[in-house]
Amino acid sequence: MNTTVIIVGGGLSGLCAAWRLSKNNIPYVVLEGRGRLGGRILSEPVAETANVSNNTFSGAIDLGPSWFWPGQSNLQSLIAALGLEGSVYEQFSDGLSVIEYGNNQIEHRSGGASMAGSLRIDGGIHRLISALHSQLASDSIKTDSTVVQIKQSTGGVSLQVVQSAKSVDFEAEHVVLGVPPRVVGHSISFVPELPSQQQQILKTIPTWMAAHAKIVAVYDTPFWREQNLSGDAMSQIGPCVEIHDASPRDGNRYALFGFIGIAAADRAGNESQVKRLTIKQFTRLFGDAASQPLSVHYKDWAADSLTATPLDQTPPTSVRAMLPESELDNRIVWAGTETAAMLGQGPKQPVCPVIATVILKEPWKPAIARQTGLSGCCHLLPISCML
Ligand SMILES: Cc1cc2nc3c(=O)[nH]c(=O)nc-3n(C[C@H](O)[C@H](O)[C@H](O)COP(=O)(O)OP(=O)(O)OC[C@H]3O[C@@H](n4cnc5c(N)ncnc54)[C@H](O)[C@@H]3O)c2cc1C
Repeated sequence: MNTTVIIVGGGLSGLCAAWRLSKNNIPYVVLEGRGRLGGRILSEPVAETANVSNNTFSGAIDLGPSWFWPGQSNLQSLIAALGLEGSVYEQFSDGLSVIEYGNNQIEHRSGGASMAGSLRIDGGIHRLISALHSQLASDSIKTDSTVVQIKQSTGGVSLQVVQSAKSVDFEAEHVVLGVPPRVVGHSISFVPELPSQQQQILKTIPTWMAAHAKIVAVYDTPFWREQNLSGDAMSQIGPCVEIHDASPRDGNRYALFGFIGIAAADRAGNESQVKRLTIKQFTRLFGDAASQPLSVHYKDWAADSLTATPLDQTPPTSVRAMLPESELDNRIVWAGTETAAMLGQGPKQPVCPVIATVILKEPWKPAIARQTGLSGCCHLLPISCML
């Protein structure tokens, strides 16, 4: 199949690129390895409250990102352009937060809700993905299409793609990589090979939040709010090291979520144990009502090879990263979150003219990046202290 631009990756970055290209009538194809779009953005409907009719879907919880912040103008422009402004609401953070110390002491503190003032989207962050998708031509989006090789060809680039275990070739003039650099380095080969220095650089760029697992427990009452607790907690015991209110805006369902503090290798294959220990912890911190969730949702991103590589199994100590240079005769543009020079800006690199004028000239990078302030909080605990 031939087109002008191939976008690898159907996360927020890849779909934003597709959206901009479509607005400028430039032919493109998005190749997404998973059977769904959204990448690290993953929202699940909360039982009995999901309503997908009339585009008024609400009652979802987020297993990937939850928040953005006032002042992130790119994301706010995107939200406005997609008609989602009315769905934005503030993270619940009224009341006391809870600190659980290693000696089992529990303290209630005023303030301390670390995400106070952050913003969420009613129906889940995935509504950005659904709204973008609805504005793109369906035959330009190919899911279950994993790119395994990018090869320079005469006047363009040839991509080898695995679709339903079959190898298919795609040709394009340019490639936009909306894939985390480490995933590119780990799973896509280049012909000619990338210089070894660049291959090393790809490894040094940590994939944002890839080492983490998130758990959400859904309830029919906001029993923590009724005790003047915000739902925010920090714990030295775990399994969750950081907990927040994750309730949908509307409906009769409420939720708490936590970042799991057990190392990826230890939690692998132990999902049911992690869920059981989390509910036990929520009960310790928020009372007996927490012991009876309606549902528990869990996603271990470190176990997902389209997000995390072996190098992402531990959280990075720093998120500072060098940008890879464009390669293959400048026909490749790095466009994912990790290669944004900084929040809201495009990569500092030579870019191919067609994309430079259409995508990178405008500040289009997803704001869902880099400012979660989580890196200091999501420390890991040994599983042994919980068993
Ligand atoms: C648990 C968690 C919590 C987070 N919380 C927040 C938050 O609150 N606020 C915030 O701003 N950010 C947060 N983030 C970060 C945010 O999710 C990401 O920055 C953003 O979603 C990345 O979008 P992207 O499109 O650049 O990359 P991705 O979403 O990773 O998209 C890349 C896409 O490429 C696909 N792909 C990979 N390899 C191939 C291949 N070979 N061929 C084809 N397709 C391929 C993947 O399947 C994926 O769909 C969080 C992330 C996680 C995991």
